[in-house]
Amino acid sequence: MDYFIKTTISIIALFILASCSEPEVINIYSARHYDTDIQLYDSFTEETGIQVNLIEGGSDELIERIKSEGINSPADILITVDAGRLWRAEEADIFQSIDSDVLNSLIPAELRDPEGEWYAFSKRVRGIIYNKDEVSRDELEGYRQLADEKWSGRICIRSSNNIYNQSLIASMIQSYGTEETEEWVEDFVSNFARSPQGGDTDQIKAVAAGQCDIAVANHYYLARLATSSDEDDRRVTEAVDIYFPGEEYGGTHVNVSGAGVVQNSPNRSNAIRFLEYLTEEESQRLYSLGNLEYPVVESIELPEILQEFGTFESDAVNVESYGRNNPEAIRVMDRAGWR
Ligand code: FE
Repeated sequence: MDYFIKTTISIIALFILASCSEPEVINIYSARHYDTDIQLYDSFTEETGIQVNLIEGGSDELIERIKSEGINSPADILITVDAGRLWRAEEADIFQSIDSDVLNSLIPAELRDPEGEWYAFSKRVRGIIYNKDEVSRDELEGYRQLADEKWSGRICIRSSNNIYNQSLIASMIQSYGTEETEEWVEDFVSNFARSPQGGDTDQIKAVAAGQCDIAVANHYYLARLATSSDEDDRRVTEAVDIYFPGEEYGGTHVNVSGAGVVQNSPNRSNAIRFLEYLTEEESQRLYSLGNLEYPVVESIELPEILQEFGTFESDAVNVESYGRNNPEAIRVMDRAGWR
């Protein structure tokens, strides 16, 4: 056969093969539901040609779903919030270890699992929110000083069944041990203005309304109120300010939102590529902006409201310990009578 005919036939055969082969995909199970996430996935497809199939749900629901799907699970990536939940997923053998130079060099060691099972992609900080008329900023020190008698009847915080508080106490156990932490929790609880009720936003509103002088809450709840289209929300934030405990008082409690590659990921290399994509500058901006969180990669410009909040110094506790100490934290809070 003539050489040119052969070549033409090969090219046509290749073309037919390529058009029959499955398109590249990635299946993401996500507990995050922000408008900016869609933009994030679209840009990934544009950049790599990999289609994103998205399954959204609650954190615990998605963990259960992957567990019950077992080795047949189509999940490549699980995205969830709070290091305590990432740990729960790890304990349920949902993740696999990966080794990526990109992730290891760009994400600080205290913000990823030592075995590479999951990585943080944004940070959230549990700040001290205070009523500006009742509390002067110089009076504030660290979480530990919130057990002082002078705060008696002045503190609002949500219940102990909330994972954010469990992670805060787990982190204290890591730094100070169980015994010291338990004594602290007892005194802290005795300073509550009311029996715990509502979410973080409710605590901030209670401070603004004068029901308590101080609340411990995640920073983005205040950022949301401050940037809300509802005038009443914005008015709430005029009465309050946020304080991040400095290094001299043990630093600020940092938690994360993160993701890992699922144990039986059918599209493993695409999954790793997706995690690496999340560390790119524009992805970091989109990922953190969705919930007004802090990017994990340094040098990314912060939205205006976070610039107004000022800088914080992390307590440098590895977030991985929040999960490991979670059962102990729950027992401590329970014994100390934190409802
Ligand atoms: Fe939250």
